[in-house]
Amino acid sequence: MQSAASQRNPEPEVPAAPVSGEVSPRCRESAPVVPPVSGPVADDGGCSSMDWTGLAGAVSSCRKCRLCETRRNTVFGEGNPHAELMFVGEGPGADEDAAGRPFVGRAGQLLDKMISAMTFTREEVYIANIVKCRPPGNRNPDPDEALVCIGYLKRQIELLQPKVIVCLGGVALSFLCRQAGGITRARGHWLDFSGIPVMPTFHPAYLLRQESAKREAWSDLQQVMRALGRVRKKPGA
Ligand code: SF4
Repeated sequence: MQSAASQRNPEPEVPAAPVSGEVSPRCRESAPVVPPVSGPVADDGGCSSMDWTGLAGAVSSCRKCRLCETRRNTVFGEGNPHAELMFVGEGPGADEDAAGRPFVGRAGQLLDKMISAMTFTREEVYIANIVKCRPPGNRNPDPDEALVCIGYLKRQIELLQPKVIVCLGGVALSFLCRQAGGITRARGHWLDFSGIPVMPTFHPAYLLRQESAKREAWSDLQQVMRALGRVRKKPGA
């Protein structure tokens, strides 16, 4: 991921070719994204007073939507419970379903490099998804599935209180920020979720398919770095 940005903040070094595993067909950013959630607003799923342990337990045994029938593991999310930076994707893929962890496949490897280029470690940030169980065939989460599951994510955000959320891809953007228009139009522009700044950018799986979009994604991540004070000034500047 090379950019015209300064050499002080080189773009993430990304593989030119696939590393291993599959790329989710859900991450074809040029395809129409799901419409923003409309109509009924998701409730908190009864988890608004849960702590991290209670929330993780509720997710691990959750059967509130049909995705429980085909999952191998729930994927709660992971990272620093005091992280200032949070990444939100749409849902687990096959690798994540098998591991019970978010972003561990090819896209996860790229996300790790993006995080590193932002001067963070994966352990310093928090990573979660809109839905905690894999949609079969890596399809997009259906609106009803997202509606019943997103209460878990909202409680994670409440507990975490990150300074910035990076929204990965159009599907996550649609459900988190109820933002219509797609990721290509929205990326690079700050949004808001309950008073927390949200930066939409391309999903790493899309970046694996579309090398030319990496420059824009890096530009988005640099905005986040500046917001978090992670961009050093030039000596003497
Ligand atoms: S996707 Fe969410 S709401 Fe559906 S079963 Fe899994 S944890 Fe429960």
